[in-house]
Amino acid sequence: SRLVVAIDGPSGSGKSSVAKEAARRLGAAYLDTGAMYRAVTWHCLDAGTDLTDAHAVAQAVKDAELEISTDPGIERVLIHGIDVTAAIREQYVSEAVSAVATNLEARAELVRRQRAVIGEHERVVAEGRDITTVVAPDAQTRILLTASEEARMRRRGLQLGKVEAAALRRQVVDRDAKDSTVSNFTTATDGVQTLDSSDLDFEQTVQAVLSL
Ligand code: C5P
Repeated sequence: SRLVVAIDGPSGSGKSSVAKEAARRLGAAYLDTGAMYRAVTWHCLDAGTDLTDAHAVAQAVKDAELEISTDPGIERVLIHGIDVTAAIREQYVSEAVSAVATNLEARAELVRRQRAVIGEHERVVAEGRDITTVVAPDAQTRILLTASEEARMRRRGLQLGKVEAAALRRQVVDRDAKDSTVSNFTTATDGVQTLDSSDLDFEQTVQAVLSL
């Protein structure tokens, strides 16, 4: 039977790795919507699109040929046939992504595509910032995965390797601040279950998701 699991959370909450592992164990597809925002941002940067020109950004997103793997075992993102799987994780992309994330027309286009991908699968785990509220509010299970600022910085630090504490804090806190202007992902709306992973390890968090 149909199963849609929607997971939202801030950066460093561990939602990507947790959602991917939950999808694997559920035999479900996995959709990383953040990767879609990143990929179209990479495309805008590559094409020299003026990120301050909202109309140009929206147009670039509408024209973008985007392919994303929904196999939790295969991480692959293509834009206009170019493999950008690694490139979209670069810091310069993270810093520019709010130009797309704050663009309402661009968001509407990506939400439309995300719903289409979700609709193609019988079982799917989708994660991002607005999945529980906008993309799939009718999902059977909706989870807001949170973690204290301290826990998130610790995890991000592990991911990025040796990064200066101040720079790390700026990355995590600034991106949260930028993101919170477009979607309120820090408090769960009705029917969304909050899962605080601050004191849980990876396996415990996956188990908690699976039991929900
Ligand atoms: O999840 P990740 O950190 O890869 O997402 C990158 C950025 O994409 C976020 O900082 C946010 O600005 C944006 N995003 C969004 N809505 C989503 C997923 C990501 O606005 N559903």
